[in-house]
Amino acid sequence: MTDSQHRAPLVVVSGPSGVGKTTVVERLIEGAHGRLRRAITATTRKARPHEQDARDYHFWSEDEFRKAIDDELMLEWAVVFGQDFYGTPRSEVDPHLARGVGVVLVIDVQGAARVRELGVPHLSVFINPPNIEELEARLRGRGDTDETRIQRRLATAREELARAGEFDHRIVNRDLDEAVSELDRLIRAVSG
Ligand code: ADP
Ligand code: 5GP
Repeated sequence: MTDSQHRAPLVVVSGPSGVGKTTVVERLIEGAHGRLRRAITATTRKARPHEQDARDYHFWSEDEFRKAIDDELMLEWAVVFGQDFYGTPRSEVDPHLARGVGVVLVIDVQGAARVRELGVPHLSVFINPPNIEELEARLRGRGDTDETRIQRRLATAREELARAGEFDHRIVNRDLDEAVSELDRLIRAVSG
């Protein structure tokens, strides 16, 4: 975090799929009384049954995604699990920071590395699972992805866990309340 960052922080939350990033961040934002929002990112993957366009993600076709990249509308983007495009539209970040609302990006380690390269002031937090067995149980418990996808996500998780040291802070999401409190504390420490 650099000195120029104060009241409305940009926060990058990363960690393996299924670790609980979205759950932790949604809980945090519920308690933030409008001071923080989660950026709704864009993806070319199919929506899960309970997911809604523009609430969970902007679900775009590959053509729409490529056009947004060409038009320089993306803050960062990556191909995740060697398959789908995921990325953060600038419109989900810049206008909100400008009006004093902090923005949380829930993105993969490639996206987090990209934000670091951009030199944008931000706080970065990596969320670890208590152990790999628990991560697998959470992926399966979510009950919305097939076996091939679970195996691909676990293989990617091992690579991602090895990169936790690239982040400003690390949190273990064992107890949900504790993980939410810890993230809240880290953000308050940089928000003045
Ligand atoms: P991610 O956004 O990292 O892919 P999710 O937020 O979708 O992960 O969480 C994956 C699953 O793990 C969900 O079913 C969620 O309810 C569960 N989960 C999240 N945090 C915890 C926790 N601390 N203990 C047990 N289950 C959790
Ligand atoms: P899922 O398909 O489980 O929702 O997300 C898969 C992975 O993509 C997660 O690690 C998630 O953090 C990441 N992801 C979601 N949105 C973005 C984004 O905008 N940019 C990047 N780089 N990764 C993202």
